[in-house]
Amino acid sequence: MGVMRSVLLAGSESVWLRERAVRWGFVKRATRRFMPGERLEDALGAARELAPQGITAILTNLGENVSDEAEARAVADHYLEAQERVKAAGVDGEMSVKLTQLGLDLGVEACYANLKRIAVGAASVGRTVWIDMEGSAYTDVTLDIYRRLKAEGHAVGVAVQSYLYRTNRDLDTLIPLGAAIRLVKGAYKEPANLAMQSKAEVDENYFTLGARLLSDEARRAGVFLGLGTHDPVLIRRFEAHVAANDVPKDSFEFEMLYGIRREEQFRLASSGYRIRVLISYGAFWFPWYMRRLAERPANVWFVVKNIFGA
Ligand SMILES: Cc1cc2nc3c(=O)[nH]c(=O)nc-3n(C[C@H](O)[C@H](O)[C@H](O)COP(=O)(O)OP(=O)(O)OC[C@H]3O[C@@H](n4cnc5c(N)ncnc54)[C@H](O)[C@@H]3O)c2cc1C
Repeated sequence: MGVMRSVLLAGSESVWLRERAVRWGFVKRATRRFMPGERLEDALGAARELAPQGITAILTNLGENVSDEAEARAVADHYLEAQERVKAAGVDGEMSVKLTQLGLDLGVEACYANLKRIAVGAASVGRTVWIDMEGSAYTDVTLDIYRRLKAEGHAVGVAVQSYLYRTNRDLDTLIPLGAAIRLVKGAYKEPANLAMQSKAEVDENYFTLGARLLSDEARRAGVFLGLGTHDPVLIRRFEAHVAANDVPKDSFEFEMLYGIRREEQFRLASSGYRIRVLISYGAFWFPWYMRRLAERPANVWFVVKNIFGA
């Protein structure tokens, strides 16, 4: 792992830094590249601007590791209301949530109940609710909660990470459920016994897992795949793969983050692919933002430019 990436990932976990950085104006200005604003209205405004280009949205209220039950319930209330507002705004947008934001650290049942409320609300507006995948300490419990809700018939999707050695085995149980799966490389700092450390290995596993999730067997089981990546090499490989294997373009979608590789987002949309852009909002953006910088330390230069007001 590069030194810069390690430093940024360590910074993402620093409470000291988080408490200060969110008040620094230049840091706030720098985040605008990846986040239209802290309010849901800001995210909805961005989604409305993307819609005419054929790009749909995933919306997420940033936050993680909530340690108070009332706060976790309030997060669920927020998502319930947000789903109604997304519908009322006429935006094609699905919500994506982190289980630690819904109280997972306080207990599985409270978290499950919060998520179930959101899923029921999502169904009432005809939407799927997506579960982000967090650090490896949460993988088992996240997949357990996912399987439970899916078995109960709720419209839920879950992210899985190609850097984890275990993910191919996890697909053995997710595919027969006809799961909606977002495949990502993984954004957390993980030890070498659990996660591949070289980019080449993570990328190759991403392709292998993605191809498995697009196979006839997976599609017959009802799997829907979100390819959450900005990687131009992988995107080209999947374009060639689906063309060569007659995979229908409506059985998967590309997913990227707001503000990252916009030209590629427009190109995919105009080539007839489904593409969703994840738009974040909320006040608790610091750890999330640091992970985005860690993914591409070149983005640090955007922060530096903002310090000097460029
Ligand atoms: C929709 C979505 C949801 C996600 N959800 C989760 C989740 O639930 N859990 C989780 O652990 N992670 C999640 N992630 C993050 C993911 O795990 C990766 O950390 C992140 O997407 C970076 O990997 P990559 O494949 O996009 O590109 P990388 O492997 O980091 O880079 C490959 C290439 O992509 C391009 N690229 C990548 N980033 C940028 C950038 N910032 N600016 C310009 N070009 C860039 C460059 O050409 C680069 O060479 C999500 C990502 C997306 C897009």
